This record gives sequence, structure tokens and C-alpha cells, in this order.
Amino acid sequence: MKEATTAARRDEFQNRLATWFAAARRELPWRENRHPYRVWVSEVMLQQTRAAAVTPYFLRFMERFPDLHNLAEADLDEALKLWEGLGYYARARNLHRAAKVVVEQHRGMIPSDYPRFRKLPGVGEYIAAAVLSIAFDQPYAVADGNVKRLLARLFREETPVNHSRADKIYRPLADQLLNRAHPGMHNQAMMELGSLVCRPRQPDCLHCPVRAFCRAHSAGVTDEFPRRLEKKQVPIHKMLCAVIVDQGQYLVVRRPETGMLGGLWEFPTLLQPNGRMSRPAKERAIAQRTGLTIQLDKKLGMVEHGYTHFRLQMEVLLCRRRGGPAQLEGGERTRWIQPDDFSRYAFHGAMQKVFLLLKPFLYE
Ligand code: SF4
Repeated sequence: MKEATTAARRDEFQNRLATWFAAARRELPWRENRHPYRVWVSEVMLQQTRAAAVTPYFLRFMERFPDLHNLAEADLDEALKLWEGLGYYARARNLHRAAKVVVEQHRGMIPSDYPRFRKLPGVGEYIAAAVLSIAFDQPYAVADGNVKRLLARLFREETPVNHSRADKIYRPLADQLLNRAHPGMHNQAMMELGSLVCRPRQPDCLHCPVRAFCRAHSAGVTDEFPRRLEKKQVPIHKMLCAVIVDQGQYLVVRRPETGMLGGLWEFPTLLQPNGRMSRPAKERAIAQRTGLTIQLDKKLGMVEHGYTHFRLQMEVLLCRRRGGPAQLEGGERTRWIQPDDFSRYAFHGAMQKVFLLLKPFLYE
């Protein structure tokens, strides 16, 4: 009897959610059709990023790489350029690698079974569940940030959503509610409800279709959920960024493909260990880093940029090349390029801030 009641309540929950979604769902470009490639690209872009920010990137990406073969055949540089500004660049590198694997090992067909799809580069449990449910209607529940927040309130779940075990707790909760007849629609509806109604601050409980099922709401404690672990203080990395010019051309360096910001371009950077160096010491350090003799002209300013595990404070220096080869250590790729060509290269976010400082001096 208890099971029947539980099943009836779950059906009721699913029906209310589906009715709400049919009326409230946003028209987003990746919802025009459910082609697995489009769903996959959109879900990768949407990780850690809001739909409004993703939309122009998705449209540009689809225009250039309308199908998986186009992406697999393209240079990584080009894919990164289209990703520039979205952040979390490992996502783009993995997507590009995965497209090649699909072409080479799966005859260009995106696998529709969980184990094979999950094995592709960059495909974690979330991406696998989202793509397989939305594109292939397979019964895998998703629990992204929006869904975890919604579940935490619905169930008054005490596990902090940023705890390392959060997925182990929230995914089974999402699975309990999953509409197995329409998993793709259901997952999108849960994410949409979390994003539009069960917002991080001031959830719109008055217009919530599943209010009757919400334990946090009935107890009047919605603002206490979800629980979160306090963020640890992140360390600050102090660096120098050397913008080196020689006859109107600027030295740029490509970061190694593996590792943080892999494959992206930047002006040469180096750690400034104690955060304080004399001018001659900076010149020597830059010379050592680049193999060039340089003269430090002026400080352009400071750039601050936040990453997941540290905060960057970077002093940006305009320097002139006085001599030496343009060869950097470590096999990195280096180029001398003109300001007009900056836009052809994919630079990471901190460098976009360097450009703002550099702009007034570019054509001096
Ligand atoms: Fe979220 Fe309020 Fe709906 Fe509960 S009632 S799920 S807190 S919007």
C-alpha cells in the first residue's frame, strides 16, 4: 500500500513537472532538435556556464562545425578559438579528441550505450546521463548544480552540494523521481525548474509546480537549503606577464597541450615567487624565461583572475626586445605576431584582461 502511495505521488510529481515544462520551457538553440551531436556539444558547453552565455558560442560552433566529422577534421586551434572566453578549456580539448575517437572507432556514430559513450574523452557521469537521456531517451537521471539544489530543498537533504560525496547522494534521489517513460524531457524539466524557479536565492515557491512535494517549503526553511561547505581560501599566485614587442610584432607562446589552459596562447608569463622583484631582477627573469635580451619599458598594470584552485595576480610589463633568438625553452610554440592577428589566436581569459591594458599602447 505504501509503495502504491509512493508510486502515485511520484506520478503526480512527474505530471506536474511535465505540465509546467511544456508551458515554461525556454526556446534554446540546442532544443531545436535532439541530434546527439548537438545535445552533446550543448551539454559540454553548459557545464559550469549559464544558458544565456552559452547561446552565442553554441551558434558559432554549430555554424563552423555543423556535424561531428567537421569537428573531428578541424585543428584543435580552431576549436579553441571558438571556445575562447567560455573557460574550462579542457572541455573543448576533450570534445575535439572525442569527436576523432567517434570517427575512428565508431564509424562516426555517437555510441548510444552507456559504457561505450562513457569511455570517450571528457565524458563523465553527468554528460553521459544528459546526452543519453535527452538524445536517446535512455533512463539515466542527471544531477547538475541546478538539480542538486532543487533536490536538496525537495528532500531537505543535509549533504552539502559541494561535498565530495554529493553525487553519490543526489544522483539516487534524482533517480527516484525520474520519469522513465520520458527521461529526456524529465531531466530537462528538472534542470529548467532549478534554473528558473528554484533559484539559488529567493526561489519562486509561489509559482513552483512541485511545491506540494517540497519538504523545505513546508517547513519554511527554503533559505537553509542547499547546505554548502564553506569554501577554502584559495592561494594567490603572483606572476609577471612580459608583453615583448619588436618592430611592431609581439611575442606569443602556446601553452603545452596537456595541463591547465592547454593549447591556448599567451604572452610569456613567469612566477614572481615572493611577489616583489627589483626592475633588474625582472629583466633578468624575463630574459631567462625567453632567451631574449629585453628592456623593461613600463608597467601596464595589474591583472587579477580567479581559477578554481587559485587566484592569479599578474603584473603586466611592456618590454622591448634588444637581442637574442625568439626561441623559448621547453619546446613551446612561439610566434611573433602583429596586433591585427591577435584575434586569430585563442588566448585564455587572463590574457583578455592583458589586452585591455595593452590596447592604448598597441600602435605607438
Ligand atoms: Fe524550490 Fe520553492 Fe519549489 Fe521547494 S517550493 S522546490 S524551494 S521553488
